[in-house]
Amino acid sequence: MVDEAAPARESMHYDVVIVGAGPAGLAAAIRLKQLDSAISVVVVEKGSEVGAHILSGAVIDPIGLDRLTPDWRQDPDRPLKTEVTRDRFIALGPSGGMTLPNWIMPRLMSNHGAFIGSLGATTRWLASRAESLGVEIYPGFAAAETLYGEHGEVQGVATGDMGIARDGKHKASFTRGMELRGKYTFIAEGARGSLAKQIMARYRLAEGREPQKFGIGLKEVWSVEAAKFKPGLVQHSFGWPLGRGSSGGSFLYHYDDNLVSVGFVVHLNYVNPTLSPFDEFQRFKTHPLIVDTFLGGKRLAYGARAISSGGWQSAPKLVFPGGALIGCAAGFVNFARIKGTHNAILSGMLAAEKAHEALSAGRSGDELSAYEDTWRASDIGRDLFKVRNVKPLWSRYGLAFGVALGGFDMWANELFGFSPFGTLKHGKPDYETLKPIDAVTPIIYPKPDGRVSFDKLSSVFLSNTNHEEDQPIHLRLRDPSIPIRINLPEYGEPARLYCPAGVYEVVYGDEKARRDPRFVINAQNCVHCKTCDIKDPAQNIDWTTPEGGGGPNYPNM
Ligand SMILES: Cc1cc2nc3c(=O)[nH]c(=O)nc-3n(C[C@H](O)[C@H](O)[C@H](O)COP(=O)(O)OP(=O)(O)OC[C@H]3O[C@@H](n4cnc5c(N)ncnc54)[C@H](O)[C@@H]3O)c2cc1C
Ligand code: SF4
Repeated sequence: MVDEAAPARESMHYDVVIVGAGPAGLAAAIRLKQLDSAISVVVVEKGSEVGAHILSGAVIDPIGLDRLTPDWRQDPDRPLKTEVTRDRFIALGPSGGMTLPNWIMPRLMSNHGAFIGSLGATTRWLASRAESLGVEIYPGFAAAETLYGEHGEVQGVATGDMGIARDGKHKASFTRGMELRGKYTFIAEGARGSLAKQIMARYRLAEGREPQKFGIGLKEVWSVEAAKFKPGLVQHSFGWPLGRGSSGGSFLYHYDDNLVSVGFVVHLNYVNPTLSPFDEFQRFKTHPLIVDTFLGGKRLAYGARAISSGGWQSAPKLVFPGGALIGCAAGFVNFARIKGTHNAILSGMLAAEKAHEALSAGRSGDELSAYEDTWRASDIGRDLFKVRNVKPLWSRYGLAFGVALGGFDMWANELFGFSPFGTLKHGKPDYETLKPIDAVTPIIYPKPDGRVSFDKLSSVFLSNTNHEEDQPIHLRLRDPSIPIRINLPEYGEPARLYCPAGVYEVVYGDEKARRDPRFVINAQNCVHCKTCDIKDPAQNIDWTTPEGGGGPNYPNM
């Protein structure tokens, strides 16, 4: 939107502009500087500091870090200090479970040699490496707009204006955004980036590909009693509490000093609109085989973030005139392993190498087609290709049979280098999978016990989320009447339940008679997970960037 009343923006010029200081963006920045220290590189990050918006498991396959910063294991300040010692996979039932023997798991599922830690801390460490090489990093600035040149090529981004009131008027603190112009622009916004969404639509990057698939991942960090701490243990489960028509699973990682990272991923192709991913997660922690780890411990942090899971067949075209998608903006998560950090780093490096070649040849603003042409034959492509059918098999055949078939498929790929299924399609996008509320049995969740399970508001408090309240609502409804006119009667307005931060509410003028419903958006609670942008059945919600610096302030997620 052009603001006529606003003064012109100032411009700064770079060789490469990078949006997002996650592992992908920072790896690209570091690689560019390693290749040629004279290349000018800027990174903008919407979090108040690097890492403030990063949320991951995280068990990290070190292949990316080993290539990018081969000396990282010797650095006393390295963020990843706990090596995986044990893998455990559990199939959970309502009151018990079965631990699967490790030998039936395909080798690629083993976490041997991987490291457990905080991805937020890892990005802070990467940022200090990048800055020492001369990369300019600006946290607290959201890239709100893509800049286009006269031939339609991307020429950089503009950071959002600050100091605009909710009614759109300029406040005394009004400050115009900056234009960051680059010969190439890398979009490294992570899953469901707001600029990536517009760029993909403009250049039709997803045409001819399977729809991208997503999950919502909820996570807490706990400090647990010393007797319950098992350093290096990596535990995954599937099954309970999720029922028919939904899939996902849990992770539980023991690392550093008595810390346990516990999380739950619900795939966003679930069908029951009364499902609440947040409450599934809370319920999971109360399972008899799980609860003991947390009793006597202290919950330190909470947050949520979407994770892409479409993999090989959903990856869009990665390049457009003047730039490229890297990391999870391109959906490079190996869904079966719940790992994307290594591919984020490798894709940032690959794109950087291709941009360096182009800049050295005096090119700018064109397509980095060498990046698009090489990623499928690289380690990223090899990693994703082997697991390409796991997600479609889960979606088609449900949890028990789907997991078994997925395992069989991964073994076939590992032993014989081929899949008996070819390459399966994902089918519908996630926003098309909900059934009408009249066609489902409503899910009733137990009340939180306040010891291991909690409510949403006390959880959001732990995410340290903060937004300037007097600013335009960054969750934009294309048609403001849809939540009450269509979503409420058809689906019970599922945003109330899928949002992990209690942002969306339906309030009634007459609560008793449930008359005069109104849709309320508590935008200040938003933890930037992007689930509403993905799952709204009418695709009526556009997540846009709020004022830079707003959002969660995750300590080390
Ligand atoms: C619950 C969960 C568990 C996971 N577990 C693991 C695991 O154990 N191991 C593993 O390897 N992977 C795991 N992943 C996946 C992994 O976190 C991602 O693959 C990885 O973070 C992708 O890196 P990225 O740099 O592409 O994006 P991100 O890490 O999402 O970083 C993107 C950055 O860009 C910033 N940004 C976005 N938009 C803008 C904008 N417009 N302007 C300015 N800044 C912007 C964001 O604030 C963020 O800092 C997990 C993911 C989730 C959600
Ligand atoms: S409003 Fe949307 S992006 Fe924000 S926390 Fe809720 S679902 Fe996530």
